[in-house]
Amino acid sequence: MKLAIFNTWRVGIVEDDQIFDVTSVVPNASPRWPLVFVNQFIDEWEDIRDRIMNAKATIRPRPLAQVQLCAPIPNPQHLIAAPANYRKHIGEMGKLGSGGRSMAQLGFFLKSPSSLTGPNGPVILPRSTDRRFDHEAELGVIIARRCKNVPLEEAMDVVFGYTCLLDMTMRISDEHQEERVMRKSFDTFTPTGPWIVTADEIENPQELSITLKVNGDVRQSASTADMILSVAEQISYISSVMTLSPGDVLATGTPEGIGPIQKGDVIDVQISGVGEMKVTVEESDVVAPKTF
Ligand code: MN
Repeated sequence: MKLAIFNTWRVGIVEDDQIFDVTSVVPNASPRWPLVFVNQFIDEWEDIRDRIMNAKATIRPRPLAQVQLCAPIPNPQHLIAAPANYRKHIGEMGKLGSGGRSMAQLGFFLKSPSSLTGPNGPVILPRSTDRRFDHEAELGVIIARRCKNVPLEEAMDVVFGYTCLLDMTMRISDEHQEERVMRKSFDTFTPTGPWIVTADEIENPQELSITLKVNGDVRQSASTADMILSVAEQISYISSVMTLSPGDVLATGTPEGIGPIQKGDVIDVQISGVGEMKVTVEESDVVAPKTF
């Protein structure tokens, strides 16, 4: 099933180029912040799935092109990210600071959930800076339930679904060595979408192709088979530290081919079996007190 959040903040099922608005059968659905009803219905999914499918049978769909898709998980408790999880990406990162180490040595990091935005973006770069901002196309994984210390062999049981994710990044430089958390947490620096594909539709998340284009030129093209820590290993690893919650989002690392973007660019991310999102890039019209 393709589960979408749209038009601030309704729940839809996507089929082909149509969307079925099933908000009326989702408990506590409300546009009031914080938007935790999405996390709650994921937690109660076993019950709610049937209600949604029954409702869908009676609902006239709308053309998908007529709605505004939003971040499918607007307010996760955690947005957790893998650094250096593809071998060839570690190679290209050598001069940018990872020192050739992988996620297995570097651990994971948190991005602010407030950096999430929908599948069309826009990504908004801070104004008046000559810093380099890069695209990182990643497979996003959504957690289904509260879990801690998940054994490797049970890790796939706690996956709710998958989405496309962009981990936008301000790079370090000789003069600037900020922590990842700050460099990756600007508002709009985590576009996600266009929807969640539920886990039952993805037989093996380690055999998906990821492609990223900027203005039509292919920059990243790889298979999730090249991950150093698999999705299951990441879940086992991360949950050995923190309790994961329904709706938590994992950014599972980016393959080789990262590169700079600037205002006016269109970033196209495609993951086989998951979907495609086209994200525009703009620049803030406000000069921040700190301009980086
Ligand atoms: Mn990343």
